[in-house]
Amino acid sequence: MNITHLECAACGLKHEAQRLHNLCRECGKPLLVRYDLERAGRSLTKQSLGGRRADMWRYREVLPVESDENVVTLGEGWTPLLRTERLGEKLGLRNLYIKDESQNPTQSFKARGMTAAVSMAKELGARKLAVPSAGNAAGALAAYSARAGLVCFIFMPRDTPIANVVECEQTGAHVTLMDGLITDCGAEVGRRKEAEGWFDVSTLKEPYRIEGKKTLGYELAEQLGWTLPDVIIYPTGGGTGLIGMWKAFDEMEKMGWIGPERPRMVTVQAAGCAPIVRAFEEGKRFAEEFPNAATVAAGLRVPRAIGDFLIIDALRESGGTAIAVTDEELIAATREIGAAEGLFCAPEGAACLPALRKMIEAGQVKPEERVVLFNTGAGVKYLDSFS
Ligand SMILES: *Cc1c(COP(=O)(O)O)cnc(C)c1O
Ligand SMILES: [Zn+2]
Repeated sequence: MNITHLECAACGLKHEAQRLHNLCRECGKPLLVRYDLERAGRSLTKQSLGGRRADMWRYREVLPVESDENVVTLGEGWTPLLRTERLGEKLGLRNLYIKDESQNPTQSFKARGMTAAVSMAKELGARKLAVPSAGNAAGALAAYSARAGLVCFIFMPRDTPIANVVECEQTGAHVTLMDGLITDCGAEVGRRKEAEGWFDVSTLKEPYRIEGKKTLGYELAEQLGWTLPDVIIYPTGGGTGLIGMWKAFDEMEKMGWIGPERPRMVTVQAAGCAPIVRAFEEGKRFAEEFPNAATVAAGLRVPRAIGDFLIIDALRESGGTAIAVTDEELIAATREIGAAEGLFCAPEGAACLPALRKMIEAGQVKPEERVVLFNTGAGVKYLDSFS
């Protein structure tokens, strides 16, 4: 195990590894996991990956979990990076790709975060896990908790897509539907967790979901022959995947696998809930809560993100941007991607397409540049939105 310590992303305070943690005990911001990368890089080499398992645990040395028997897996990660020529041609792009995360267990990339978080919770002795969710995080936590033999408590807005509610019930979770948004659900978990003995696995309020999601960055590099694309377009709610990839690029550079160049990181949000876009445009580092958040893209209905500054820092440092698209645009994009490439995307993933179009129109993407869109989930979970 190569973890040296956990470090607060805001104030830098060190926290001990191999103990259950939520936020920084000093300033209440997210903790990031730090590794001895020199040691990790002795056995984890580009060459060594050739014969390894075809899931995200192939990057074992830079993932948490001390003992292999605590790894709780359903075969997540190592999803295809699909070259989408027909769609690219419509846009005038020669190198367009979609990373298809709908092919994960529980049909979304939340599986990556939850395999890591639940494995660590199991290793560190948690028995009961709780999470507020806009949908897919709940399904993933329910599945991985069942797989680990742990009990889980899910809090979701009453109008969460029905598929997410049913999948949680069918994998044995305790489900509570609440009036309000994911932030209200999070407050409920916060109020009750101590008395109930729950470990809170909210996005970025525990340090390991981001470790699972960072494997997106490792996979992208490996699948592109140890190069990075020019532009990454990512549908952003809490921002775990984007922050995770940014961290992965840093780790890979420290291990000597890639150079200092980085893709331009682009956040896409729904016009009805775009706190990061607004803060980015106003030149701020912290985002205010977005009032009356509303969008059919449930995973993007996150009015306040505790990792806001980490998202915005990555956008600025990379020369990227933040773009809002309407629900009409993202629903239309689902059909356009589906008809062109045979992928029935989640509305969140589809939102990348209108964002890309706006960038092309503004001259922000050149025809030969390599662009990767993230389809973060499966359209079949949102049938109510397409009727
Ligand atoms: C959760 C979710 C997102 C947003 O992911 P974050 O890491 O919270 O930014 C995007 N798409 C889908 C399908 C999701 O479930
Ligand atoms: Zn701190």
